[in-house]
Amino acid sequence: MDYSMHNKEELIKRIEELERLNAQLLIEKEKAATLDFPWTGNLGNWYWDFKSNIVTFNPLKIKALGYDEDEVPRQVNYQFFTDKLHKDDFKNTMEAMKRHLYGDSPVYEVEYRIQAKDGSYKWYYDRGAITTRDEDGKPVLLAGIVFDITQKKNMEEELERKNCELQKLSMTDSLTNLKNHRAILSFLKREMEESQRFGEDLSIIMLDIDDFKVINDSKGHLAGDKVLSDVGKIARKSLRKTDAIGRYGGEEFLLVLPFTKGSEALIIGDRIRKRIEDHIFIEGLKLTISGGIKEYFGESIKEFINEADKKLYEAKRTGKNKIVY
Ligand code: GH3
Ligand code: MG
Ligand code: MG
Repeated sequence: MDYSMHNKEELIKRIEELERLNAQLLIEKEKAATLDFPWTGNLGNWYWDFKSNIVTFNPLKIKALGYDEDEVPRQVNYQFFTDKLHKDDFKNTMEAMKRHLYGDSPVYEVEYRIQAKDGSYKWYYDRGAITTRDEDGKPVLLAGIVFDITQKKNMEEELERKNCELQKLSMTDSLTNLKNHRAILSFLKREMEESQRFGEDLSIIMLDIDDFKVINDSKGHLAGDKVLSDVGKIARKSLRKTDAIGRYGGEEFLLVLPFTKGSEALIIGDRIRKRIEDHIFIEGLKLTISGGIKEYFGESIKEFINEADKKLYEAKRTGKNKIVY
């Protein structure tokens, strides 16, 4: 349409007409969207006039953020929304828009957190595209639709958290809070592979409490449980961050020491043995442990553990309270 013959007043009148039309279209489009397609979280359509930087949007989009309709002008600019983006989502959102504007992506599609009036954040899923271009192919109008996906996101996060917890639980021994049998073996397998790949040293220590049956028999099973947990704590505190300890069996612990030669593992094992010997458990109860050490030389996991076990039984046979390498 050619507006060159119109004066200023006529042009303003025409713009106002178009704005009203635009608003009406939006209302009708929204009705269609909510009635015919009752998609969960649908907050309706938006239109971004690229040249004037005016965004026309459905009030639902801003009402969902806790604002009253009359608190916000019906026409705002793009920054009105981007200013409310979560700082961790800002870059991603801008890049998604840029990719679309530069023609690297057929649609603009992004999930972001946007700040509500009360300071909390909502998750929005936003999707749009350039719908009108000028003669040079430059964007004139973009249209899109936005969904509130906060509930879905919260549910996903909760599920992920629970999965994480379950995963941890399934790998933990409930009495000692150490890795359980499965978890320490899985750690060991991984370390064996690493050791093979990078030619790094790796050693294991198999520890077993001496005469544990006597403790159970004389002090009771609960006291025995407490001792087990304390032995685990003392041993764990004696290790480095890269090491791991697990409850291998009843009163047996498997220690996995990456980057460690057998001779070095012997020193660590003996330090643990001394700490346990010096520790007063319950009611003046003292006890000792024995251990077997094996350095890794490429054998199978079964052989590897078996060799450490053999050394442990040698320690038991030759008087207990000792670590054998
Ligand atoms: P040794 O010096 O030869 O190792 O003798 P020991 O008595 O320590 O070994 P043995 O294998 O004969 O007995 C292990 C005991 O550990 C028997 C079992 O009742 C006890 N035990 C295993 N798991 C638990 C547990 O979870 N709690 C308690 N309290 N005792 C346990
Ligand atoms: Mg024992
Ligand atoms: Mg045992």
